Amino acid sequence: MKFVTYREGAGRAAAGVLRGDRVVGLSSGGFADLISLVRLGSEAVRRITEWLRSVPEGAGKPLSGVHLLAPIPSPPKFICVGLNYRDHAAESKMEIPKVPTIFSKFSSSVIGPGESIVLPKNSTQPDYEAEFAFVIGKGGRHIPADRWRDHVFGYTIVNDVSARDFQMATSQWLMGKTFDTFAPMGPYLVSSDEIPDPHALDIRLEINGETLQNSNTRELIFKIPELIAFLSSVFTLEPGDIVSTGTPAGVGFARQPPRYLQAGDDVVIRVEGIGELRNPVIAAAS
Ligand code: ZN
Repeated sequence: MKFVTYREGAGRAAAGVLRGDRVVGLSSGGFADLISLVRLGSEAVRRITEWLRSVPEGAGKPLSGVHLLAPIPSPPKFICVGLNYRDHAAESKMEIPKVPTIFSKFSSSVIGPGESIVLPKNSTQPDYEAEFAFVIGKGGRHIPADRWRDHVFGYTIVNDVSARDFQMATSQWLMGKTFDTFAPMGPYLVSSDEIPDPHALDIRLEINGETLQNSNTRELIFKIPELIAFLSSVFTLEPGDIVSTGTPAGVGFARQPPRYLQAGDDVVIRVEGIGELRNPVIAAAS
């Protein structure tokens, strides 16, 4: 199933599920937002499937007529994995890591599909990173790697937009990663039953029609089971936490000459089975 968060009426965010090309609101199904749904794990999908049988055909609104937000607009934690594709570690002139490199983005950086990435005035090196992300359903601590499927609700797409000058100014990447609008996410949260093998998905990024990143999630160094075990060995994973798994080769700063984001760019990320995340790029007004 494909779940969305969208803006309804007076700007209130609502959760919905796609049926064909229509969005059916989930509030009458008992879910005000997607976090309250994902915490039920696979039981949520079963429950929604059953509930939809009672919803008349043609209910809801056409997908093209609703304003989508990020599926989880304010995740409890937004966790990112750095240097998790061999080719990207090489182009960054970093060693293949033996321990996952973990950093974070604040939820204030999250935007939805179609919303603008705003280039800050104080960075000269704004860059893009196509990423495949998994979303925690049932939470937990000390989760064994082989129990990962019990805790992943589904998948989405993230653009880990990065101001390289701020990222590389110190050993801590956070400030370069968490400018407002630097975490486009969406368009859907695709439940895990639709993706039998998340480690075999094509991932691609285009800007203005030119392909700049083109890889497959089979190239991930640390895969989902290992990441879940590692992260939950330190802290509790909670329903709605986002884990963005890292980006393949082809980012702007590693190109000759570098290819940074510019106002007017149209950035599109596609992940097989997960959809297409498109965001325009604009300059900050002040
Ligand atoms: Zn990244």
